[in-house]
Amino acid sequence: MVHRVMEKDVCIAGGGPAGLILGMLLAKAGVDVVVLESHDNFDREYRGEVLQPRFLQLLEQVNLRSYIESFPSSKVRKGALYYKDKRLGEFSFDNISEEIPYALWMPQPILLQALYDKAKSLPSFELLFHAAVKELRYEGERVTGVVAQIPEGTLEVRARVTVGADGRFSAVSRLGGFEMEYEHLAGDLIWFTIPKPDDWGDELRLKITDGYGYIILPKYPNCLQVGVAVPLGEWKAIREHGIEPFRQELLAAHPAFREFAEALTDFKPFVLLQVKDFYVKQWAKDGCLLIGDAAHCASPVGAVGVSLSVTTAVIAADVIYDALQDGDVSADRLGRVQALRDSEIRSVHKMQARAARMFFTSTPFIRTFAPVVISLVTRTKLLAAVQRRVLSLSGKVPIHERFTFQD
Ligand SMILES: Cc1cc2nc3c(=O)[nH]c(=O)nc-3n(C[C@H](O)[C@H](O)[C@H](O)COP(=O)(O)OP(=O)(O)OC[C@H]3O[C@@H](n4cnc5c(N)ncnc54)[C@H](O)[C@@H]3O)c2cc1C
Repeated sequence: MVHRVMEKDVCIAGGGPAGLILGMLLAKAGVDVVVLESHDNFDREYRGEVLQPRFLQLLEQVNLRSYIESFPSSKVRKGALYYKDKRLGEFSFDNISEEIPYALWMPQPILLQALYDKAKSLPSFELLFHAAVKELRYEGERVTGVVAQIPEGTLEVRARVTVGADGRFSAVSRLGGFEMEYEHLAGDLIWFTIPKPDDWGDELRLKITDGYGYIILPKYPNCLQVGVAVPLGEWKAIREHGIEPFRQELLAAHPAFREFAEALTDFKPFVLLQVKDFYVKQWAKDGCLLIGDAAHCASPVGAVGVSLSVTTAVIAADVIYDALQDGDVSADRLGRVQALRDSEIRSVHKMQARAARMFFTSTPFIRTFAPVVISLVTRTKLLAAVQRRVLSLSGKVPIHERFTFQD
């Protein structure tokens, strides 16, 4: 077994959207950076595939939007809300941003590979797959790097700044003793994928039936990705009752589910993802910073997780760059990232929690009440305002030109 050692300005645990973008921007500005990714590739499903206008706007600002949009993807321009078979209202991405009137559906492996291809052309960028962070290194109270498991043994990275961009089950957060300020569990999203009917178009649908809430998303290139919103604790009971009652629920929910539902013999075709949000109390310690889902995990409601995580990454690039220049990587200095992100994250979490209460419930009162609220909200300007707030978030993030790419 070997023990390799490397020295870097910045070591980032996690090659998800936040870690890759942070690594790429820092390398663009000449910072020596390594990203350690525990998996051996970018393959992942049912994660962050709807990319909101805010994310595209950030890419535009660093001059990478047309590069990313040149990869396989589809555009989602509108959505509709249904109660059983009744169309209660519609919403359009035109209301969010005139500049970018659509969300992009792009499988996350394609997005991450595209970002990686761009980043690896930068001389001070390095990414290692199959490198899982297992330990933090300290000098006194200050974090000075990590030890990662690699196939041939261990890798020690000595770094001036260590970043935990390792997602909702962050090892850096656990190893560094970061404390949670709050955590909410809303329920489970039970995902499955079916072929897209020819007449579906590119419409995203949210639907409430007597049984459950449904999210139905057109998935690139010609499928529908369906999420059944199951209230907290109910999935276990559903499984105990066997496949038949759940098959009947799906058959009643939408004609497009018929073929899939009829072929079911067990629960294997479903993928469960816990719907939760949390907020870490202090994102920074001396020499160490959490970003993205590791610091502020968003629930899938509204599909804003990538936008929120990447916004934090972009702000972190600026704060870390300046901190390195000034030779001050204290918790106070790195904590500026949280100070700049705090109010937006909290307000999005609150809105997500409200929407989740309506969607992940089996309470008959809320189920009856929800269609009335949805109908009212879609007919007034309120929906557009909520959409702008949640999906495009609050205004452009200033980005220094040292982080922008040339054509
Ligand atoms: C069901 C579901 C659907 C979602 N849909 C959407 C959507 O449509 N649109 C949207 O914007 N957001 C969506 N989200 C949220 C979105 O996926 C996340 O907010 C986003 O991926 C967070 O990015 P990140 O880079 O912070 O973390 P992640 O994407 O979780 O990346 C973390 C990376 O760290 C790696 N890692 C973990 N541990 C270690 C370790 N010890 N060492 C090294 N590497 C490690 C992981 O392998 C991973 O690659 C969804 C989330 C869920 C759960």
